[in-house]
Amino acid sequence: LPANGFANTRDLLEAAARLYGDRDAYVEADGSRISFAQWAGRARSVAGLFADRGVGKGDVVALMLPSGIDYAICYAAAAMLGAITTGLNLRLGPREVMGILTSVSPALVVRDADADLPQAPDGLPVLARSELALEPTGPLPRVDVDRADPVAIIFTSGTTGLPKGAWFDGDNLAAFARSAGVMSAPFDRRLTATPFPHAGYMAKLWDQLVWGITQVATPTPWSASAMYEVMRNERITVCGGVPTQWAKLLDDPRVGRASLPALRVGIVATAPAPPELVERTVERLGVPLVVRYAMTESPTISGTEPADPPEVLFRTVGRPQPGMSVRVTDEDGRPLTTGVIGRVRVKGDCVMRGYWEEPELTRDAFDSDGYLISGDLGCFTPAGDLVLVGRAGDLYIRGGFNVHPLEVENVLVEHPKVRTAAVVGQPAPVIGEIGVAFVVPADPALPPTLEDLRRWTRERLADYKAPDRLVLVDEIPLTAMQKTDRNSLREYLGRSPA
Ligand code: ATP
Ligand code: MG
Repeated sequence: LPANGFANTRDLLEAAARLYGDRDAYVEADGSRISFAQWAGRARSVAGLFADRGVGKGDVVALMLPSGIDYAICYAAAAMLGAITTGLNLRLGPREVMGILTSVSPALVVRDADADLPQAPDGLPVLARSELALEPTGPLPRVDVDRADPVAIIFTSGTTGLPKGAWFDGDNLAAFARSAGVMSAPFDRRLTATPFPHAGYMAKLWDQLVWGITQVATPTPWSASAMYEVMRNERITVCGGVPTQWAKLLDDPRVGRASLPALRVGIVATAPAPPELVERTVERLGVPLVVRYAMTESPTISGTEPADPPEVLFRTVGRPQPGMSVRVTDEDGRPLTTGVIGRVRVKGDCVMRGYWEEPELTRDAFDSDGYLISGDLGCFTPAGDLVLVGRAGDLYIRGGFNVHPLEVENVLVEHPKVRTAAVVGQPAPVIGEIGVAFVVPADPALPPTLEDLRRWTRERLADYKAPDRLVLVDEIPLTAMQKTDRNSLREYLGRSPA
């Protein structure tokens, strides 16, 4: 189907239901599945239920459901009414849930009654998951929805502060489908290991419909062995994961070319992937592992491609994807030359329309040329590939020299005695800041010493980048999206969040 040929998700879904009919649209880890025709049929019925509850065009429907079939049905149902979907990551705590629901004032919350999952605060209109099976009372209202109408509000991961709600319209959805590249081929069977409330799901909705792709939900709760079982049983062809998930997957000795013959490409996204991990994954899987650099506010930015040489695949986040332009600038927005580290800024069809009902935050997010300020630091290689060195807020200055923790971490994880590592700056007299390495030893009985790690780092990087202090830990704290939670590490060191 033509990605550009539809005015809204409803029309595209109905066309896909006619064209792809009985083909699997969604599969869950337990084997339950629905076809494209069933998806559209169920969505029509649930849209009727939503309408019964007073949901209309422009209203927000908040989904507090696990990633899977019901989530997809509700998403499509809201789209049929011209309503706006927002999903809540089920790993969020009550305070974060409250913050999100207050900022979007949903007309309806669809939630699972499971006591272990976060619950909607009192006073909001709620439809229980079990009620999705009810029959609507009337016919589905016919609403006009065009490409400029808002379709989704996606909350950022909250790595640096409270999650922010980025909103998108139908033009964004069409643009994502045009920019998918190697991530989509006709009739792919795709497993994305990030939960559906994440921008990745919304960004791939239209290309799923365009190409007749089967979307397989990530197992909840997630485990590497459950993920492996699904990859094998469902003959997954495209598999996306966050770096921690790929690392854990490789711990399973069953994972390899022979056991996953259908796989054609892997994708690693959402957080910095150590070059060593990308290389090891490619070796084990025997297929390319491409990197995608994206953020909630711009779910498509750049990526590597399977044909790229190893130094590009392992060390960069590739080139801007179709429809996107990336700049590296100084603090005032002036573009810098190749090789110079600066602020990464992005512009193009995939960028959000703004933060939902936050005009000031929105204004501050863009520069005077209309580029979104990512908060990331990086530089371009002479070949035009983008290298990310970390987030602006993570940089520390030791004795007048800038240190990007990511660069040090990538060297530390190559040390045989290190399993994972995170580096943060700590204020210190005279020198300004020192580097503290939090390290999970590969073998707790044989942990590395500070001297081991300093020597290792100095042999590979400038001497001021060697960590000054070592803290051995059982694990590195992670956020709900499995990213290094540097704010907790800073707190441990008695610092306020960056
Ligand atoms: P918040 O904005 O709430 O603090 P967040 O920035 O982590 O949280 P997301 O929008 O989910 O929320 O993540 C986007 C960020 O993730 C990017 O700005 C970048 O720092 C990081 N990131 C995404 N993809 C990659 C990648 N391939 N390599 C390195 N970093 C990445
Ligand atoms: Mg962010």
